[in-house]
Amino acid sequence: MFNLILFGPPGSGKGTQSDKLVAKYGLVHLSTGNLLRQEIADKSELGLEAKKFMDMGRLVPDSVVIGMVDSFFEKNKEAKGFLFDGFPRTSAQAVALDELLHKKNTEIATVIALNVSEDELVKRLLERGKTSGRSDDNNEGVIRKRFAVYIEETSPVADHYKAKEKYFAIKGEGELDEIFDRLCVVIEQQMA
Ligand code: ADP
Repeated sequence: MFNLILFGPPGSGKGTQSDKLVAKYGLVHLSTGNLLRQEIADKSELGLEAKKFMDMGRLVPDSVVIGMVDSFFEKNKEAKGFLFDGFPRTSAQAVALDELLHKKNTEIATVIALNVSEDELVKRLLERGKTSGRSDDNNEGVIRKRFAVYIEETSPVADHYKAKEKYFAIKGEGELDEIFDRLCVVIEQQMA
């Protein structure tokens, strides 16, 4: 298995690049944000609970997210690798992911972070908010809160993988295809 984490702040392009990467490398896309939005659309109990946190720009509790990832693995036993997008977002999630993968006799191969300046991120998110229908994208206060949460709770996840020498960062600004090519260079080095 080849398991990849695409890392970076809200609006850094993880979702867009994930679509291209899963198509090229045959990985299964695991976006916790998408899974949570599906739960909300289904009006499940989990979705209703998660929505309260998402609307405030806060993280959904670890236990909820980890449980959701565990059941996603159960439904995708044949995957030849996963692309994690928006997960893990806390150190506790990173530790839980290591354990879940260990049980499947596999591990994270590589983490690639997309570096984008905060001004560019706000611009992209407000632009996305016009068409995405995502209520967390059309309110600048909620966007700023998500950045604060990212710095506080998510950025320490990078250290978890730096310690394992699995962490790489690329420039996430420029043309989409340019960024994609940068990602592919790192992935192919790591696959070799
Ligand atoms: P973005 O990267 O633009 O923030 P996501 O779709 O990844 O978009 O996440 C949207 C929201 O869903 C987050 O602000 C958070 O509330 C919730 N969420 C997504 N993934 C996680 C996670 N791994 N842990 C906790 N909350 C999450």
